[in-house]
Amino acid sequence: MAPLPLPRAGEGRGEGAPLGEFALIERYFARPTGERQGIGDDCALIDIGSQTLAITSDMLLEGVHFLPDADPVKLGHKALAVNLSDIAAAGARPRCFLLDLALPSADEPWLAAFARGLFDLAQAHDCTLIGGDTTRAPGRSGAPGVLTIAITAIGEVDRERYCGRSGARPGDDIWVTGRVGEAALALAHRRGQLAIPEPARAECFDRMDRPTPRVALGRALAGTATAAIDVSDGLLGDLGHILERSGVGAALFWPAIPRAAVFDAFPEARRLQCVLAGGDDYELVFTARAADRSAIAGLTGDGVGVSRIGCIESAPGLRLHKGDDVSTPLLDVTLQSFDHFLSPA
Ligand code: ADP
Ligand code: MG
Repeated sequence: MAPLPLPRAGEGRGEGAPLGEFALIERYFARPTGERQGIGDDCALIDIGSQTLAITSDMLLEGVHFLPDADPVKLGHKALAVNLSDIAAAGARPRCFLLDLALPSADEPWLAAFARGLFDLAQAHDCTLIGGDTTRAPGRSGAPGVLTIAITAIGEVDRERYCGRSGARPGDDIWVTGRVGEAALALAHRRGQLAIPEPARAECFDRMDRPTPRVALGRALAGTATAAIDVSDGLLGDLGHILERSGVGAALFWPAIPRAAVFDAFPEARRLQCVLAGGDDYELVFTARAADRSAIAGLTGDGVGVSRIGCIESAPGLRLHKGDDVSTPLLDVTLQSFDHFLSPA
């Protein structure tokens, strides 16, 4: 059976075929760099004296990352949370952040609520707002402008313990924190594609609107994980970035991938789509030596534990097994993780 396709920069783009998000970055913005590691990890690392800073930037756009009627308290939380999730993947300690806003108008009740959500999370992580930029978002032909929120977060990392995405080796275990897929289920519900029964509905909405960055787990894993990434675009796609940068393949065990009980109420195709390719989970997927298995299995933090979901293999590609080990048959699925230019709007 064919391995699952992995996202590969610049690959498979025939004449006239659309340019994907990662191929676009690779082609036009990747340049040799004097810094310790260039484009490609969740954070860039910069050495300053004996200190190493981890820096990341993520933006949220109305109509792309959130709906126009999104609760501003939750939006403030999420805008910082998605950045702290990249800080977590680097095993770093959050320090401070910059906030850039393009606002259609100076709506004070909205701003007060947004600031509350933002600073509640910032305080919980002892992460200080140190600057930014604010501008009005002009609309075209009388329409309101598009609300855009961009945050640059800065953390401190122990350079000896940093792993990035390129250190996975054959024989390593693959792990994921918490569970995946509920945010994607919430999105499908909001798009009217399905109905999530209560009380799971509120939980799924919460996963989508108020993700918890796994900062404590990320720091606990630093020094033991061989590679790590946060799951923002979907488990397979994000794990695919580790496989590509590490030059390895993987076997995943479908029953071992942690998901909420509510998925039992939906057909397998929906389960596979949400759990494997859904995105917006902000869990960490990471690899570690099999020798560290028992130490990792007991880890908890940020209110969740970790699950062992597969292993790294030398053969390229990603094989999804029906059972809990590599002797079980393969599931034949083709899924596309989220890509800003290849996924349907
Ligand atoms: P993440 O989901 O972890 O925020 P992305 O998938 O957005 O990362 O980006 C993948 C990599 O490409 C990251 O290392 C990111 O810093 C880099 N990147 C994204 N956009 C640009 C850009 N316009 N210029 C340079 N690097 C970029
Ligand atoms: Mg990331």
